[in-house]
Order: sequence, then structure tokens, then C-alpha cells
Amino acid sequence: VAGNVDCDVLVIGGGPGGYSAAFRAADLGQRVILVEREATLGGVCLNVGCIPSKALLHIAAVKEEAERLSQHGVSFGAPSIDLDKLRGFKSATVGKLTDGLKAMAKMRKVDVVRGTARFADATAVHVDLHDARTRRITFAKAIIAAGSARVHLPFLPRDPRIVDSTGALELPFIPERMLVIGGGIIGLEMATVYSALGARIDIVEVADKLLPDVDRDVVAIWRKRNAHRFDNILLGTRVESVEATPEALVVKTGGEGAGEHCYDLILQAAGRRPAAEALDPAAAGLNINAQGFIEVDAQMRTTSPTIFAVGDVTGNPMLAHKAVHQAHVAAEAATGAKGFMDAKVVPSVAYTDPEIAWVGVTEDSAKAAGRTVKVARFPWAASGRAIANGADYGQTKLIFDADTHRIIGGSIIGPSAGDMIGEICLAIEMGADAVDIGKTIHPHPTLGETIGMAAEVAENTCTDLP
Ligand code: FAD
Repeated sequence: VAGNVDCDVLVIGGGPGGYSAAFRAADLGQRVILVEREATLGGVCLNVGCIPSKALLHIAAVKEEAERLSQHGVSFGAPSIDLDKLRGFKSATVGKLTDGLKAMAKMRKVDVVRGTARFADATAVHVDLHDARTRRITFAKAIIAAGSARVHLPFLPRDPRIVDSTGALELPFIPERMLVIGGGIIGLEMATVYSALGARIDIVEVADKLLPDVDRDVVAIWRKRNAHRFDNILLGTRVESVEATPEALVVKTGGEGAGEHCYDLILQAAGRRPAAEALDPAAAGLNINAQGFIEVDAQMRTTSPTIFAVGDVTGNPMLAHKAVHQAHVAAEAATGAKGFMDAKVVPSVAYTDPEIAWVGVTEDSAKAAGRTVKVARFPWAASGRAIANGADYGQTKLIFDADTHRIIGGSIIGPSAGDMIGEICLAIEMGADAVDIGKTIHPHPTLGETIGMAAEVAENTCTDLP
């Protein structure tokens, strides 16, 4: 440990940003203390985000797939749902991962302190320990990875039937009628889960489309596939008031879908905000921007030279894989290395049914910016594997710079879209053009082959493989 400080690197927060920063710093020979206020490591992502939601979405997808098989001659009986077992599966999935993190922290000799940290100044934090004591910890460098918290809509009453994503993941009960406020990734994923469990669902979104960052033609495919799943998708609609009566939650909406409806459960999934204020960032001289995010440079350095910040607390998109990449940059920079956060793109995935994955420039955003691009679509109706898998509704779409023919964006809708988007990310990072991708031999018959075929469409050299 340099000088007389308690640690070389202090990490605040044990989510994907925090544990990745702590582990990388420890691997680089630093003595690391990680402060986390919750009982387990993993942050939002492992405990109440990415992982439990995907465990439930997996069950939903298998159930839907089993139902679809009846069209092809294989029928199962009506499903019976045991909520306790389902919760058990979800918790066991989370438990395996959080236990794994605990073991990895121990192996690396990362000292995990349970408590809530706030800055005393740019060299020390006070940690309110969970046993009510306060401990002062001094550091040479600090990495903030305090994450984000959900936004609570001010007009919603406090009622156990009104939940956020954390409450919804606890599966309190299966409602007959459910309202999802917010047509972003989290709202649509949880709506998919509850629909598979048998709830009738309305979705309210204030914008004029679902998933604002996705091309309209892609969202249109998703809506068509989901027409049977949701009662109403009310766009351009705002929830104006909610009255909690013993029988039901009475919701008044305004805008295009104005009306009054009753629900048994409401999920508010209307965005998340950075969790910076509780850290007392001003005490350490940190700049917070108008949206509440901690300002950082390309090395994740804040306005205080010894303090770094990564993950949700630094800005959008709020995604675990972005937090992990930033964490590695910060940990390396904190030990004097010259790494930078220079990723060209960060992919996004909605793990709904069907999945949508997208990255980089979209057709709609290029048009809005007046940029000329070349768009190549490969409809999965022409993919042998997609037809065999009952996924002929899918689509792979690539966006190329019109002058250089280099790929600058892409989207995939259909099963395993999230697993396939990595190839498009790699192509963008490597500066590949349509020929590079089209002439890369993809295995046949696979869904991934549609990426090569879309590139061939762009070059007008599409082959005849079915
Ligand atoms: P977090 O994971 O939020 O971790 C921050 C940690 O800091 C928390 O554990 C918190 O307790 C701790 N903390 C905060 N303040 C203090 C303090 N003062 N002292 C001590 N500890 C503190 N992203 C994806 O990439 N893929 C997905 O599929 C996905 N699904 C999601 C589903 C849901 C329902 C939700 C809510 C989010 C999802 N996300 C997903 C987003 C993802 O969870 C976040 O982007 C990711 O967790 C951010 O990591 P982080 O390390 O920045 O912060």
C-alpha cells in the first residue's frame, strides 16, 4: 500500500462495474477494498436485473415454444404454474452467480466491506457499516460504481400492487389484469414474463413508439408477433392518475389512449436515474451534470484526478457490458496504464419474444441526421434454418456507410438475436465492409448465416443458399 492509506484502490459498489474494477485492480497487484451496501455482490444486474429477468424469460420462451409446437403435431397439456418453484429457480440462478463472485473476491484478496460509502474528501470515505458503526477508509485511488436506481413516478400512490422491476421479479402473484408503464426494454421484458404466466396486459408509453432506439420496421415485426400477447399497447399516452381502491387500481390515462381502466398490478418501468447524490460527490470535488451523472473522460477519470467512475452512474446506455468495459479501463488507468474507453459501439438487446438486438447507427437515426447510408435486409423467410425453427418472421438488417461500404450499424430480430449481434459489433470495431462480411463463410444452416447473406444483399451478390 502506497504511503499510509488503507488501500491502493477503493471501489464503491459491487455491481458489474464495481466487481470488474476491483478484480482487474487486484490482478494488477493493487490492494483493493470494495464497499457494497447490500449483502451480496453483483449489483442490480445479478440480483434484481439482467440475470433473474433472463431466468424468467427463459421459462416464458420455453412455454411459448411448447405451445407453438401444437401447430406442428406435438401437443402438451395446459401448463400448471407453481410460483414457489419458479421463484426458487430464479433465486438459485442468482445464488450460483453471487456465490461465485464472493469466491472470486476472496481468491483475489479483495477486502469486501459491507456498508454505505460517502466521500469525506478526495482521499477518504466514511462508510456507514450495516452494524451502525462508521468507518473511515483512506485511499490512493477510488473507483465509483454506485449504479442507478429506478425512477418513482410522483403521482403513483404507495401500494403493494404497484411495483418496480425489483418487485415484479419477486412474482408476488399472477394478476388477472396488469398495466406496464413504459415501453422500453425492462417494461417489455417483464410484460413478456407476466403474459406467459397468464396475465392480460396493457402497455402505456408516452412516446409515439416502443423501443425508441430501434428502427420502426423492426418494431413493427415485433408488434405483429406480439399482437396475441398484449390487450392494448397505448402509445402517445400518459398515465395521469392512479387510485388504489380495495378492489382494483383505477388508472386514468390522457393523450392518444385516453381512458379509465382497472388493474390488479402495475409495473412502473419508466426509467432509471444515477445513484450519485448519496455519495456526497461535492465533498470530493466531482462534477455532476444536469442529468445527475458523474462526468468522466475517456479514461473514466472524474474532475478529481484520483477518482474514477464507471457504469450506470456515468451515463447512458445503462448496460452491464458497458459498465464492465469501463471498469477495466478505470482499473488500468488507476494503476498508471494508458488504456482508454474507445469502443465504437455498445450493443443493446431486448430479450423479449422475439428477441431484438441492435448496435450502432440505425436507418431511422441516419435519415433524421440527413446521412446517406446503404441498408441491406435479409428476411428470415429466405433462411432454411429459420423456416425449420419456425422463425421465418425474423430479419437481419445491416447499415453501411454509402461511400466506404463499411458497416456502421445493424439489427436482428428473431431467436438468439442477442447471441448473434456480437458479430456485427466485431465487424464495426474492425472496420469491415460488406465484402468482408459477405465473403466470410458462415456455417450452414444457421441463423448467423443471415448476417453474411444481408452483407451479400448489400453488394448485390446474394448466393442461392436456402
Ligand atoms: P449496479 O449494478 O447498479 O451496482 C451498483 C452497486 O452499488 C449496487 O450493488 C449498490 O448497492 C451499490 N451502491 C450504491 N451506492 C452505494 C454506496 N454509497 N455505498 C456502497 N454501495 C453502494 N443490463 C444489461 O446489460 N443486460 C440486461 O439484460 C439487463 N437487464 C436488466 C433488467 C432489469 C430489470 C434492470 C433493472 C436492469 C437491467 N440491466 C441490464 C441494466 C444493468 O443491471 C445495469 O446496467 C448494471 O447493473 C450497471 O452496473 P453498475 O455496476 O454500474 O451498477
